[in-house]
Amino acid sequence: MKRVPPNREAYFDLVKRLKKRYSQKVCLAPYPDHVSNIVSAHTLSVGAMLRPISRKGNVYHWKSDMFADYRESLIELKLNGLKNVSTFNGFCEKHDRELFSSIENEIFLCKYNQLFLYAYRAVAKEFYLKRKQLDSFPKIEEIAKVKNWNNSDEYEYSDEAILHYYGILKGVEEIEQFKEKLDLILLNGEFRRIITWIFPFNKSPGLVCNSVYAPDFDFKGNYLQLFEDFGNNLNNLMVTILPYHSGGFALFSYLDTCAEGPAELIDSLLSEADFTSAIVWLVTCYFENIAFSPDWLESLSEDTQNIIRNRFKRNFLFNDKNNITLLKDNPLDLDDWEFGEPFKV
Ligand SMILES: [Zn+2]
Repeated sequence: MKRVPPNREAYFDLVKRLKKRYSQKVCLAPYPDHVSNIVSAHTLSVGAMLRPISRKGNVYHWKSDMFADYRESLIELKLNGLKNVSTFNGFCEKHDRELFSSIENEIFLCKYNQLFLYAYRAVAKEFYLKRKQLDSFPKIEEIAKVKNWNNSDEYEYSDEAILHYYGILKGVEEIEQFKEKLDLILLNGEFRRIITWIFPFNKSPGLVCNSVYAPDFDFKGNYLQLFEDFGNNLNNLMVTILPYHSGGFALFSYLDTCAEGPAELIDSLLSEADFTSAIVWLVTCYFENIAFSPDWLESLSEDTQNIIRNRFKRNFLFNDKNNITLLKDNPLDLDDWEFGEPFKV
C-alpha cells in the first residue's frame, strides 16, 4: 500500500527542522538533571527477561553480517551472550537506573507504573532507532559522489528515495509526538492512562520482547488504520512478553486517547483460539527487539523453526509488513504455553 507522495517544499522544511533538532546526543528521559554519561541500556532486562529464558548465558537474537554475499544472509538469528542483546544509548546512567528501577529491581505485580514503564521503554527505544535511521540516510552530496554527478544542478534525490525519506521523517515525528505524550504521563504520574491487556500463561515463554508498532491489519485481515494518509497520526500498540516464576505474561498496552487500531487488534487477538501461535506469530512478523529461548526454539520442528527464522528475517530486511493476510494466514501450530484468562487493567 503506497502512501501519498509528499509536498516537496514541506518535505525539505521538515528535513531542515528535524536535522537541527536531532543533531545532539541526549538522554531521552524528560528530566533536567542528566549526568554526562550516556549508558548502553538494555531494553530487554537481563535479570527479569533474558536470564530466565537463557541457556549457559545465551539466547537467540539477531546478528548481522555486513560482508554477507547475499542480502538474505545479512541477518540471522544466532546464539548471543546476554550482554550484547538489545542495548541502546538512549539514557544517561542516572536516569536509566532510577527511571526503570521498579521493573528492574522489584517483583512484577502488574502495577500501573510497571506496566507504563514497559510501554515507555519500548517507545523510547523505537524513537531512538527511528532517529538513527534518519541520521544515517545519505546526504545528497554523498549520493552525488557515488553517482559521479559533476554539476550540482543535477543533484536530486530519486522519487523513490524521497518517498522513503519522507516515510522515515514521518515515522520519527509520529513516535516523537507519542513519546511526548508518555513523557507528560510520566511527569504527572498518570500511569492509569495506559490501558493494558494482560495475558498470563503457566509455561516458560519461548521468547521475550519489548516493542511498539502501529497495527495495520488484524487476525481476520481487517484494515485498522489509515496508513496511506500522511496527515493521519497512527496509534501505537506496545507489546512486552516477560517470564514470571515458571510462566509469564504477555502485555498489550495503548494510550487511552490513542485506542483506535490497538484496541481492535487486541479484540481480534482475544477471539483467536490459540493464543500461543497467534502471539508468537504477531511478534515474529512485526518486531525486531526479540530474544528467543534456545531450548524452546530448538525444540520446534525444523519446518517451524524455518518459518519463524524466515519471517523474522523478512521483517528485518524487506520491511514487507503491510500485508492484509500476514496475521490472518498464520502458519504456526505451537505447543500451548498454557494461557489463562486475559484481563484488562
Ligand atoms: Zn538523563
